Amino acid sequence: MSRADPLVIRRLEYLGPMSAPRGWRPEPKLPEVAFSGRSNVGKSSLINKLVRRKGWARVSNTPGRTREIHFFDVNGTFALVDLPGYGYARISKERKAEWRPLIEGFLRTSPALRGVVQLLDVRRDPTEDDLQMLDFLGELGAPTLIAATKIDKLRKAEAAARLRALADAVGIDEAQVIPFSAVTGEGRDELAAAIVELVRQPSWREEEPDPASADDASADDASADGAGDGR
Ligand code: GDP
Repeated sequence: MSRADPLVIRRLEYLGPMSAPRGWRPEPKLPEVAFSGRSNVGKSSLINKLVRRKGWARVSNTPGRTREIHFFDVNGTFALVDLPGYGYARISKERKAEWRPLIEGFLRTSPALRGVVQLLDVRRDPTEDDLQMLDFLGELGAPTLIAATKIDKLRKAEAAARLRALADAVGIDEAQVIPFSAVTGEGRDELAAAIVELVRQPSWREEEPDPASADDASADDASADGAGDGR
């Protein structure tokens, strides 16, 4: 028997799409975890595996139907946010750039966002779009998990080498990359546990240090006064 499931799916509900930067989106009542990656990286497959549904997030969407952000309520405990796959090779340059304002606008402004799962295909070097997305997430300061998809396509030794190369390419510790396969289920529980943990944390946006920590400063002043000038 395997270990206890870190994310038992009891209830799953589609909340709707967001299709424009300041367009409709569901009320940000639940903590949100967004899933990001280029088209065909295996995002729908990973999400389906994560929530243990077949065909929940649509696999191999045609590009025209993937330009919306889809929100799902998982167990009433967090919102799974499926970002549009970017960088689809077969669409024109302008169409390619359309993802930016929508995705970046959402990530920048959603008050409920707790973190992002960035997907990278274990067999490929990160694309320019992948690196730009990771830079953007870095600047935002958003907690980011990396899932290396389609790990089943490589033999063990090859997979280990590719995971190292990926971690190097994106400048993070290898231990932070979660190898994942939608075919074998490898990495599902590890990713689920990491997401559950992310959702438990307070938002990084609320973690800004107290401006000048006013109380401490006045306490220092007071003691300096007391000790200092014995006029
Ligand atoms: P998306 O465009 O990122 O949502 O990618 P999909 O989930 O639609 O997957 C793209 C293609 O990769 C499909 O043909 C999937 O069957 C295949 N695929 C996705 N995940 C895996 C995986 O873990 N292992 C293997 N072998 N194939 C996968």
